[in-house]
Amino acid sequence: MHLRDLSRRRWLASLLALPGTPLLAAATRRRQLAGIEFDIIEPRPGPRRYLLIHGNEQTARDTLLARMPGRPGRALLVTGNTRHVPLRGLQLDPNRMFSRAGAQRNLHLLNPHVPASRISAALDWLDRRRPALLQPLLPPPGGLLIALHNNSSGYSVENEIAISHSVSLPTRGAPYDFILATHPADFDRLAASPFNVVLQHRPAGEDDGSLSRLCAARSIRYLNIEARLGHAEEQRAMLEWIEENLP
Ligand SMILES: [Zn+2]
Repeated sequence: MHLRDLSRRRWLASLLALPGTPLLAAATRRRQLAGIEFDIIEPRPGPRRYLLIHGNEQTARDTLLARMPGRPGRALLVTGNTRHVPLRGLQLDPNRMFSRAGAQRNLHLLNPHVPASRISAALDWLDRRRPALLQPLLPPPGGLLIALHNNSSGYSVENEIAISHSVSLPTRGAPYDFILATHPADFDRLAASPFNVVLQHRPAGEDDGSLSRLCAARSIRYLNIEARLGHAEEQRAMLEWIEENLP
């Protein structure tokens, strides 16, 4: 046996002995999309898409990273550990960048002393690059996009009830863990689950630039799995139920 073969065997054995990190690294590429850096993980081809858009939501990141090794589908995870990302030298909440109107409001909010002309230039720049982010992120027709978020500042399903079209609240006493769906058929299935679920399939009010709003407007199957920061077991249980029970 050649030395090269031996070292290759050892390398392969080391990969198999440590499922998780090394295998994941082999399936990961790092890309700038619309000026924001993402790790894209795709162990095997599949129609599902997964997203971590807020870098400081560590429980959601861990839940998604634990799900991916060896399984089909593509995950995009923002790099870094902050909620906001730099865009053309400005601060932006990346879950407000999916429309120009939403990004405009958010850039003004987070960069209050910046001239409107500079914000307008950043919006033009973002408009040109948004399709390059949506292309790898949005699922093929009929596919499902799952975003994972964590909350820690009081936000809960109670904030969503009034603006939802249907709700199922079997554990209303644990309001920080819930699922938001944009497609009625997904909601109907999830209403049979043990989890809190809300349906928002007809966008109303002002466009906040969130991904859920874009998906509702385009009739894309989208789920947000929302869990309290640190509720790893609860978030994992919601994700696994979806994996097993939704087409
Ligand atoms: Zn979030």
